[in-house]
Amino acid sequence: MLGTMMDFPLTVTTILERAGKYFSAVEIVSRRPDRSLYRSSYGQVYRRARALGECLQRAGMKRGDRVATLMWNHSAHLETYYGVPVAGGVAHTLNLRLHPDDLAYIVNHAEDRFLIVDDVLLPLYEKFRDRVKIERVVVVPQSGKPVPAGYENYEDFLAQATGEFSYPALGENEAAAMCYTSGTTGKPKGVLYSHRALVLHSFCIALADCFGLAQRDVLLAVVPMFHANAWGLPFAAAMIGGKLVLPGPHLDAESLLELFERERVTYAAGVPTVWLGILEALEKDPGHWKLFPGLRMTCGGAAAPEGMIRRFDKLGPKIIHSWGMTEMTPAGTTSYIKSTLENWPEDKKYELRAKQGLPLPFVELRGMTMEREIPWDGKTLGELQVRGPWIAESYYNQPEEKERWTADGWFRTGDVVTIDEEGYIKIADRSKDLIKSGGEWISSVDLENALMSHPAVQEAAVIAVPHPKWQERPLACVVLKKDAKASDEELREFLGQKFAKWQIPDAVVFVESIPRTSVGKFLKSKLREQFHAWKWE
Ligand code: AMP
Repeated sequence: MLGTMMDFPLTVTTILERAGKYFSAVEIVSRRPDRSLYRSSYGQVYRRARALGECLQRAGMKRGDRVATLMWNHSAHLETYYGVPVAGGVAHTLNLRLHPDDLAYIVNHAEDRFLIVDDVLLPLYEKFRDRVKIERVVVVPQSGKPVPAGYENYEDFLAQATGEFSYPALGENEAAAMCYTSGTTGKPKGVLYSHRALVLHSFCIALADCFGLAQRDVLLAVVPMFHANAWGLPFAAAMIGGKLVLPGPHLDAESLLELFERERVTYAAGVPTVWLGILEALEKDPGHWKLFPGLRMTCGGAAAPEGMIRRFDKLGPKIIHSWGMTEMTPAGTTSYIKSTLENWPEDKKYELRAKQGLPLPFVELRGMTMEREIPWDGKTLGELQVRGPWIAESYYNQPEEKERWTADGWFRTGDVVTIDEEGYIKIADRSKDLIKSGGEWISSVDLENALMSHPAVQEAAVIAVPHPKWQERPLACVVLKKDAKASDEELREFLGQKFAKWQIPDAVVFVESIPRTSVGKFLKSKLREQFHAWKWE
């Protein structure tokens, strides 16, 4: 027998409508490149998002067409988050930290028809413009300077709206947003988020034991809007009607602390590198910054060090450790102390908070080794596999990546975990040998391949080495060909032709040989051990 409830689609449109109707006066605060702040509101975002949807439709955007964005975190970016999907398009956020070669590949693979780009990011777009077929480029004036000749101004584009816009009837499983992950080796892979996934994920991250979001919160999204939808905050914030603070390109500790203080931020989300910077600034000058007394900060993207959680506790802000992936919309777990463990000793509780934690409701997970589930003993290692309503079932147009899913329908995360007696997961390692610097991936294999294309290089292995600021930075271990010569600087300059600056190893060490496994693969764990205590200059 069927239930007698309405079959009501879960779409981003309903989130926008609610925010526009009930929270129109709630502010969206954004920071411009010149550091000045400007204030918009859900009322304005509502009107402008609808205007954007109407104008994109007039410009020929059809159902499912991809509209790329190349933007920092600010209110116009928020307008695209809503304006594109409510008109039937797919908002495709481009990671502005990628190399132009990768961006060209991604834009072509996604077949983006439109691009909305910050004027300050036009120089980046111009580096790959000739290699992509974008039909219409709209430029958001952020710098205060006139939009360069030959480009269309976003404000002029929106001004063409008549207000006669009606939402298409969207199915909840239609795509609303898109993001490419470079989280594994090989080419970047596209993840297509459905309306349904974004809505359910919003409900879930708002829960008290997840990010704990409420209407009266002031939410600072430090995590970039080009990285996994800023962890879903722009959707969840509008759903609950919470004030949003968007820092533009200014992500240094001082600029962020200014925002925390001025806007009375109650909740913020970012990667450990950002929080470590904030911690240092707070400890250097205790009492200088007046933070909201109950401030909570989600820390994800890389492991939150236990020492950092403890140090923040002393100062007031509470770190909520969370794990997720682009393929998971992205939140998967958070770590909090269950009521039944409240009487555990303090040290054990900190140990738990530094773990990645418990799965969110509707995220199912298991650790697998040799086709068997690992026991909950906190010792046995296994590959973390997940499934749930906001977890990708496939990549966009990449059938060759099918092996990332098991035959029984679980997604292989590539993370290696233990699960303790209480069900808390702890990420022990990554099965993939990637480097995560400041929350962004660097592929070691790509760097090695490039290094090994240098005439003087025999072999190269690039490994992640702990770094006090960036969590990890790449170190290149190079074996030179017999009688060949090359310096550290020369090799890094060579990489500069292909890689963005932040992806290039900070140092090259010359070694006799690279340790190998029995089947002849690089034994990087050995190198990581050897260089674990590497002193960065
Ligand atoms: P991305 O898709 O770029 O968000 O990267 C996802 C990957 O980041 C995961 O597979 C993990 O390897 C890593 N990651 C994310 N959050 C955490 C965390 N809290 N602790 C450790 N690793 C994490």
